[in-house]
Amino acid sequence: MTISTQEMQKLWELVKFSLSKKFSPESYKAWIEHSTKLASVTEEEVQVAIRNNFALQWIEKNAREQLQLIFRDVLGEGYKVSLVVNQELFESKIPIKDTMPKIGSLLTQVEEKENQLQKALKTACLNEKYTFATFVVGNNNQIAHAAAQAVCQHLGQEYNPLFVYGSVGVGKTHLMQAIGREVLEKDVTKKIFYCSSETFLNEMVESIRGKKTAEFREKYRKLDILMIDDIQFISKWEGAQEEIFHTFNVLSGAGKQIILASDRPPGQIQNLADRLKSRFEGGMMIDIIPPNYETRVAILANYNKDHSPPLSLECLEAIAALVEDNVRQLIGAYNKVYTYAKITNTPMDRETVEKIIGVDQEAARRKVSVETILEKVADSFGVTVGQMKSTSRTAEIAMPRQIAMYLIRDILNYPLERVARSLKRNDHTTVIHAVDKVNRLMTNDHLLRTQIVGLKNSILK
Ligand code: ADP
Ligand code: MG
Repeated sequence: MTISTQEMQKLWELVKFSLSKKFSPESYKAWIEHSTKLASVTEEEVQVAIRNNFALQWIEKNAREQLQLIFRDVLGEGYKVSLVVNQELFESKIPIKDTMPKIGSLLTQVEEKENQLQKALKTACLNEKYTFATFVVGNNNQIAHAAAQAVCQHLGQEYNPLFVYGSVGVGKTHLMQAIGREVLEKDVTKKIFYCSSETFLNEMVESIRGKKTAEFREKYRKLDILMIDDIQFISKWEGAQEEIFHTFNVLSGAGKQIILASDRPPGQIQNLADRLKSRFEGGMMIDIIPPNYETRVAILANYNKDHSPPLSLECLEAIAALVEDNVRQLIGAYNKVYTYAKITNTPMDRETVEKIIGVDQEAARRKVSVETILEKVADSFGVTVGQMKSTSRTAEIAMPRQIAMYLIRDILNYPLERVARSLKRNDHTTVIHAVDKVNRLMTNDHLLRTQIVGLKNSILK
């Protein structure tokens, strides 16, 4: 089969497109876009011409495997990819060889593969941004990351279910979706579905209303991987718990994988039926904590790679120092600084960054400090701040401590970990427990509610 130069070029563009997603725009441009050309394609071998030795070294190290994989994928095992330095090709305009077997089908195969993956991601409700490649592994998520990778290797086996928990914005959704993505990249026919517990509930309610429960069950029970996010909300609905329990049994009985994410461990999800709790705990439970400073810098540096011009390391460090607990906010802060730098075209330094991000945080904190809250609560309950921060568990002290946690969270909107730290606690789940408890008490105990509302007003005054 003869193929035109034009078609061959199109194929090469597709290969490059796939490579462009693996590297930062700068690296891609320097080492692939400007430094490689497709030289020839035969039945057994594709030859890629490289501009110079530097580029060759970079490609050998960073892109060879990928190149090989892409060509092998379409042309089969044993297909050879050779990289040859050929400076002349980049200087003169020698036309690339024009006779290439198989290339037409190769072209459609590459295109089709990409299309199929996109389609499968859509069906699975996966966000294409959430991949392992963009997930930075740090002190806070090492084990969770390793478990997620293990799940990809051993679907439906020892880590079933995988239960990931941690506070808001620490990367639970990203990590669970990365598993789905990885599995689909290997086998696009796998049936995967990601949803929030609300979606699950809504679909269930809809199916009952429309008398389509059989279809609903069929949809969930024929999956290879079911992922339910924010499963903590499921405690509100008994019917949904029942449905999940049965779905769970069918899937795990058939060796299918279940992945769940929650802001707290199963033991702390209120009103969770015991049998469901023991199912949730029966596989692998992993927590993700907020990243430390080094990891935050690494996350920003990774994000920075896709931005041009990138922010300086000094700026990244300043952002990482200011935003502590939540990766979503960390990235939000980066975007703010980046946009500001771009619009005003000013070079950014630590001080400017502090001004840009500090504004919001200050606005909230200027008025109220943690200490004010602690003092007011202590006053109102006749204890001292020291006692509230102590290890004492007597009711007279535990109660104001929990109310203080509730108010710090409510008024300052601090992340759980930070609330815990304000009261010298290490474990953010203590805060979840406290907030839940105070909420419950406030519903049932009018006097207490009046006291807490009064306290809040006096703090905000
Ligand atoms: P959660 O589900 O725990 O609330 P998400 O998974 O939604 O958190 O993460 C919030 C944001 O932070 C997302 O944009 C996500 O891509 C990003 N993010 C979180 N952890 C990481 C990480 N380790 N590396 C890169 N990005 C991360
Ligand atoms: Mg989430």
